[in-house]
Amino acid sequence: MRKALGLVASSVGLALLLTVLMTIQPYAAPQDALQKWVPNDRNRPEPPIITPGTFSTQEHPGAPPSDAIVLFNGHDLSNWESVKDGGPAKWTVGDGYFATVPGTGYIRTKAAYGDCQLHVEWSAPNPPHGTDQDRGNSGVFLQGLYEIQVLDSYNNVTYADGEAAAVYGQYPPLVNAARPPGEWQTYDIVFHGPRFDASGKLLRKANVTVFFNGVLVQDHVELTGPTEHHQRPPYKPTPEKLPLSLQDHNHPVRFRNLWIRELKEGE
Ligand code: MG
Repeated sequence: MRKALGLVASSVGLALLLTVLMTIQPYAAPQDALQKWVPNDRNRPEPPIITPGTFSTQEHPGAPPSDAIVLFNGHDLSNWESVKDGGPAKWTVGDGYFATVPGTGYIRTKAAYGDCQLHVEWSAPNPPHGTDQDRGNSGVFLQGLYEIQVLDSYNNVTYADGEAAAVYGQYPPLVNAARPPGEWQTYDIVFHGPRFDASGKLLRKANVTVFFNGVLVQDHVELTGPTEHHQRPPYKPTPEKLPLSLQDHNHPVRFRNLWIRELKEGE
């Protein structure tokens, strides 16, 4: 009996010791090793200085941040090409915007991008035509694979994961923050692509955060795989960088002020 009590007492003592050790853990080495820097370390490199952009109005697109790559210069589609044949993008360019030409197919950037912050502005046809998915439909395809839906979702009911700012077929937006057709709408997207090892095994799923007209609508959601209609396909090994594409869904949706900031690992 006494032996048993002693065993219980020493177990309690060990548990207490472990609790104390776990309590002081935050100040121990592992976190510092992860962080590399101690709090308020003046040896830590300062972030680069950039000039922030300006916000858009309905009348005028804003200026991008100074370290952004401008994907549309307001005049031509020189940074874009046709997905169909790799030739020149066949969409039309108007005064400071470009628009889908139904039937010409998707367009994609000539350059490839990985983890990024992406700004896109779009405007659905006004007056609106059609209902449900057949109304102001296009899409921002991150890495040409993962669609952030573009749709006229103003007074237009469709399935939840097909609304504007949905991760199409995966996640509805948290709220419907759509503006009326004809008005400029903004997507601010933070995307981290998937990672694969040398054998093609998935190490990390892609994730995305989306602000729609300044409102958080996708909160760091983990993508289940590439976008497909009525399907949920698994990931396939892909390079870390791929072109961004825009969808031709047979509606003349307009775009302006597209820019991208590439993110380094850990950002
Ligand atoms: Mg679409």
